[in-house]
Amino acid sequence: MIFAGSELQIHDLKFGRGVKVDAEENKQLQLYALGALNQFSLLHDFDTVLLFIHQPRLNHVSEWALSVNALNAFGERAQDAAAAAITTAAVADCEGAETLPIDVFTSGEKQCRFCKAKATCSALTQSNFNTVADDFVDLSRDIAPQISGAKERINACDTAHLAEVYSQLDFIESWCSAVRNGVHAELEAGRDVPCYKLVEGRPGNRAWVTTEAAEATLKSMRLKKEEMYSFTLISPTKAEKLLKKDNPRRWSKLEWLIFRSAGKPSIAPASDPRPALIINHENDFDDLTAIEAESLI
Ligand code: SF4
Repeated sequence: MIFAGSELQIHDLKFGRGVKVDAEENKQLQLYALGALNQFSLLHDFDTVLLFIHQPRLNHVSEWALSVNALNAFGERAQDAAAAAITTAAVADCEGAETLPIDVFTSGEKQCRFCKAKATCSALTQSNFNTVADDFVDLSRDIAPQISGAKERINACDTAHLAEVYSQLDFIESWCSAVRNGVHAELEAGRDVPCYKLVEGRPGNRAWVTTEAAEATLKSMRLKKEEMYSFTLISPTKAEKLLKKDNPRRWSKLEWLIFRSAGKPSIAPASDPRPALIINHENDFDDLTAIEAESLI
């Protein structure tokens, strides 16, 4: 905490290098600030709160300012949410978490990321199905009415809807891995999972039991060196390691022979600092009408 006149600063040092965190609307930091206000507002007259997150290992600093009034309003909402959570926890404690209705869970990327119940949580399963269900035909119902006018419906699926589903893909993929691992763990523990079993997977690549024995046997067959060994030129990365530091003159003679193909276009969020690619397909085609007109002259 830093008290700077009427300004209360909360600085949070996060030393991991996993996930970048922003200070804006950050509930954890707002709760820290409420704690500081509760303890020190009698001694200081604060009107602004500044929240900071420092992540030195990600070279990231994030800052967000809010008024004390806005922070207190957040505090009231947090109190209501905490009261509801305490009631829910008490019910779960007495009657078991599995008795809670799905709507008391608020699944989401942040809160579910490290949850151990991810593979088996009904609320998360339901929410992921809701995200994708619109795009699939329900095979348990009559299919004809569902696919009638399908072409028009495909046209109606606009890019905003596509973007909404796309934004959930990482989360859904992480849930898919959790379910895969969960089923694997159940089967490995010897428990029954309906319709599934463990089988031996694809065997690994073939290898010599001992390289020396294989080499001696091949030599005894009088094979030529080029038949026995495969030589390949070292890669630019290996050449760089070999020469750049110890022999920069030799390295400079090689550098011009290295090329790197351009990266394939990939999707990034609009906030990504890289400039957007300008896609223009107009120049990919010749104007045949102009060529035809010329040939007629
Ligand atoms: S997986 Fe289920 S229990 Fe775990 S945080 Fe998400 S909603 Fe809550």
